[in-house]
Amino acid sequence: MKIGDLVAFINESAPFQYQESYDNSGLITGNVNDEVNGVLCSLDCVEDVVEEAIEKDCNVILAHHPIVFGGLKSLTGSNYVERTVIKAIKNDIAIIAAHTNMDNVHTGVNKKIAEKIGLENLEILAPKNSILSKVVVFVPHDNVNDVREAMFRAGAGSIGEYDSCSYNLKGEGTFRAGEDADPHVGEIGTLHSEPETRVEVIVEKPRLGSVLTEMKKAHPYEEVAYDVYPLANEHQEVGSGMVGYLTQPVEAMSFLKSLKEKLQTELIRHTDIVSEKIEKVAICGGAGSFLLTDAIKKKADIFITGDYKYHQFFDADGKIIIADVGHFESEQFTAELFVELLRQNFSTFAIHLSKVNTNPISYL
Ligand SMILES: [Zn+2]
Repeated sequence: MKIGDLVAFINESAPFQYQESYDNSGLITGNVNDEVNGVLCSLDCVEDVVEEAIEKDCNVILAHHPIVFGGLKSLTGSNYVERTVIKAIKNDIAIIAAHTNMDNVHTGVNKKIAEKIGLENLEILAPKNSILSKVVVFVPHDNVNDVREAMFRAGAGSIGEYDSCSYNLKGEGTFRAGEDADPHVGEIGTLHSEPETRVEVIVEKPRLGSVLTEMKKAHPYEEVAYDVYPLANEHQEVGSGMVGYLTQPVEAMSFLKSLKEKLQTELIRHTDIVSEKIEKVAICGGAGSFLLTDAIKKKADIFITGDYKYHQFFDADGKIIIADVGHFESEQFTAELFVELLRQNFSTFAIHLSKVNTNPISYL
């Protein structure tokens, strides 16, 4: 197993194209052609984590937060970012970051938090609406199955729990082949009508390239007639935050107390208890204040996240309880999520959970 294969696997699980524009998820240091000896999973990648990787004989660190975020202009070791990168490179350690791409998939960071809190019937809080396309292709009847299957294999037509979804309409295409053409049907210079099926499939952005490549390979025509329409539809399984239900309503204060235990946090900063009972819960690992209006719109009783500032707490405005559990605390289980994801799929290299507490904040 090469490091490049591991990066490709992570891209399959949480496509890097789903990361936010400000992010830097992906392979940060390391050579795609090196073999994977062992993977150390952590929330942050700092010098102590690189040290731990060396001790555990792991040449890959899979971290949630990218150690290089805003770019590097020099590598002199003058700060912790540069020192971490230098140490990783000197020791042939690859650093992979799966950050907002892992936040934005329905099997990612927030799913793990929901699992810890015990939420059911989960939905994405703010689904994204710019990642679906419709591909329409016109295929002679005899080749429809082959072309459709090729597109399905490349990931087209998968919607929620369904795969192989397509719409097919029979019609007629016309064309006239030029002097230098090599037409599959019809004659050069003569207007030809061919019975064709219009095949429509939905494709997610990260799969569009391979769907089009496979579609063209399976299509018999020299010049394939096809359209790609960007869709404004939301993708229900990709986006920020999550909302779900407790198995039964719980008295607000006892919910907050149990939350403290479940999320292993020393401190919860919260606004007024405006609902007696908590049943519908919105969550966002890390800094989630940008999702407050979505949480209110979804009628959540409480919004659990991190990194809230003083003035932002006023925005609860009697409509919801904001509970800031801490950035690290809300996302600490992401490393566990990485371990589970890798162990479910690989058995040829060691997979370790980091023991380093990378939280830079202490409570007095
Ligand atoms: Zn974070």
